[in-house]
Amino acid sequence: MAVPVRPLDPFALLTDLPVEQGGAHQLRTDGVSVRAYPYPYIAALSISNDLDGMHQECFDGWHAFVNGHGPTPDGDGLGLEVGDSFWIWTYPGPELLSLHLHYAHVEPRQDSSRAGQIVELGRLGWLDTLHSMGNWPFEEGSDRCLHALRDQAAYALDRLDRLGVKPSVYVNHSSSVSNVGGPWGWYQHADDPEHPFYCMDLIKAFGFKYFWIDECVNFGKFGDHLQYPTQHHLDRAIRQFPWAAWLRRRDYEGVTYNAEFPGDSDAHRQLLTSFFNKTLIRVNGRDGKPLLAFKRHRGFDQPIMSTFCNQVTDADLDALEEMRGVVIVYQHFGRKGPRGRAPALSRKLRSTVTSPAFDEHARARFHSIAERFHAGRLWVALQSRLLNYLWLRDTLRFGVQQAEAKWLVTIEEEIGCDATAWRRVDDGDLNGLSFSVPSHAPEVVVTIAGRNGTLPVLRAPDPGWPGRDAVYLPWRQLEWPT
Ligand SMILES: [Zn+2]
Repeated sequence: MAVPVRPLDPFALLTDLPVEQGGAHQLRTDGVSVRAYPYPYIAALSISNDLDGMHQECFDGWHAFVNGHGPTPDGDGLGLEVGDSFWIWTYPGPELLSLHLHYAHVEPRQDSSRAGQIVELGRLGWLDTLHSMGNWPFEEGSDRCLHALRDQAAYALDRLDRLGVKPSVYVNHSSSVSNVGGPWGWYQHADDPEHPFYCMDLIKAFGFKYFWIDECVNFGKFGDHLQYPTQHHLDRAIRQFPWAAWLRRRDYEGVTYNAEFPGDSDAHRQLLTSFFNKTLIRVNGRDGKPLLAFKRHRGFDQPIMSTFCNQVTDADLDALEEMRGVVIVYQHFGRKGPRGRAPALSRKLRSTVTSPAFDEHARARFHSIAERFHAGRLWVALQSRLLNYLWLRDTLRFGVQQAEAKWLVTIEEEIGCDATAWRRVDDGDLNGLSFSVPSHAPEVVVTIAGRNGTLPVLRAPDPGWPGRDAVYLPWRQLEWPT
């Protein structure tokens, strides 16, 4: 019989957590720090769309409106960088964005009619997210998946590699055996070494780096890395945070247990701070190896197109900017239905989004997001890019030589952490990379160790952090193909 695990006590562990350790990005008062976001943005938003039920008409329509620049049935394109997700396998049926429209064990394998679009948009970087590997058939009368084997995952990853499609974000899909469970795992088996589907080693070796696990959602709290203005605000937010879901796991029979989080009280304090107010969370997979999980904002309603306007309000976005936070919004833009909190009612009456893709409320919210982006306040980027920046601002190692006339920032060439592979800094890391320095700092020069020359950084007073300047490489958006 398993030894019972003692639950973590957030209130005891986070008593007197100082505001500067509450999860907001901190800047060194007198030195050089990585800026919270690419200059000039003061907050960040990404949309994490699950492709469930999303037919081609909806996919093409909503992306043309949100990403493009020309006229669309929803109005003129907004020019935002918002990506999407895809599958490897799904059940035979409507032509969803899946490489195959059949189950993984079916041979011979046949590409779906959407495979060409996956390759085109995947190579350009827009499809940066695999929504798990997809759907498997279930055992009759049970929630156990059938016919799932490691060889199928090996095939899928090898195929993506050969197609030149390199997503780095892995997002669980309801009930898929190919989901990642981490410390909360039960039906998820990609990281379960006891299961014949185990393939977490292959998934990481392929280059997947950021994992969304079912428990990693915000309901009422909009965004993370929020800078609470006072100790009182922080303490209140900690008291109001719904801790229970983070601390428990369940099994197939529905029995719940305390989840196991190894480490001492310092490690637990850091972990709970991440649950509470950081987007990336380092946890162990079911195989005991560390991985980077990330959070998505769900809100209280089922996240579908019709609820988007309640899920993301202007008041939420105002507060996100005010508190310098970041949010990744969890959506299913392929689905619409009545708003409200009753899942049975909402689910029963759901239908497929066609064209135009959005109702007037969702469209209005996108206009607000676009206005904030084009005004240089809200950074809107692919979730892979946003997550990479958040990871980089914590892991980039650099030294600073401060002389009277010049500060020299030298970035170490290797970046990584124990939950990822180590690699060289690349062009993607440098896109938008911004530092924050006190305004009185002299000339600031940035180099990468082992490379010739200096980086072509620009410098400007920082609108988000008065008294400081941004030293930055401009951020370049992806262009949506027309
Ligand atoms: Zn899904």
